[in-house]
Amino acid sequence: MSSEKTTLPAHVVIREVGLRDGLQSIATILPTAKKLEWIRDAHAVGMREIEVGSFVPARLLPQLADTAELLAYAKTLPDLFASVLVPNLKGAERAIEGGADLLLVPLSASHVHSLANLRKTPDEVVQEVTRIRAARDAAGSKTLIEGGVGTAFGCTLQGRVEPVEVLRLMQALLDAGADRVSLADTVGYADPKMVRDLFEQALRIAGDRFWCGHFHDTRGLAMANVYAALELGVARFDASLAGIGGCPHAPGASGNASTEDLAYMLASMGLTTGIDMQGLLALRAKVAEWLSAETLHGTLWRAGLPKTFAAA
Ligand code: ZN
Repeated sequence: MSSEKTTLPAHVVIREVGLRDGLQSIATILPTAKKLEWIRDAHAVGMREIEVGSFVPARLLPQLADTAELLAYAKTLPDLFASVLVPNLKGAERAIEGGADLLLVPLSASHVHSLANLRKTPDEVVQEVTRIRAARDAAGSKTLIEGGVGTAFGCTLQGRVEPVEVLRLMQALLDAGADRVSLADTVGYADPKMVRDLFEQALRIAGDRFWCGHFHDTRGLAMANVYAALELGVARFDASLAGIGGCPHAPGASGNASTEDLAYMLASMGLTTGIDMQGLLALRAKVAEWLSAETLHGTLWRAGLPKTFAAA
């Protein structure tokens, strides 16, 4: 046994992605007023990073057609860092125009998934990031560009995704002008050892430009995977309230790490997130009511906080 002590980050940021990653993959279309309430309450309970939506054509994702309005509202809330997903230059221009703090360009390291989902090869996505960076700089905008490498641990369509290819694409995104890079286990194939091995190498490449870990709980390992990344010093994770955002290729399976379970684990370990747990659980209950037709996930809400839990 190793006696080596690991230092976990003292403060961890949870980026709420339920409004994008979650809502885009369920059938219920949440009215704009409810989304605004969600953003307002998330901010009120202490969340400071929210992915409010995606600038994709409304005909492809009618669920997210109100992203510009949500972004404008998010920008009125003090100290809220608002991000949006964009699939291409056109979407990026809207994000820059709307003054997003960050725009996330997803890239799939699985070539098969990339072609099926984005109709581009991963390297074509890298080229798009070059154009997005040029547009951002030309506009004199402060919007950060994040290149998110998805299917980083394997892919439902392609199967194995080679780590060396994931890291090559991450380097290519940085070379193309991405300010930040992140890794996503889009289909829940990762285990803690895989996370340690890949994140270690990714951190070596990206240094403090490494932004975020995005884990899915499809096979129940999201929290264990977060812990593996925490041990390497990663201090920002995506999560979705009530774990919404299932896996498109495994109907009914859990999707994103659930925000409330993650916030609870971190708080219980003494790592600060700035989030009020009671308030977060109240928001979860509200969202669960709005999404009563959907399968929701997460565990904490069933049992509640332990008696020994000390509110930070
Ligand atoms: Zn996700």
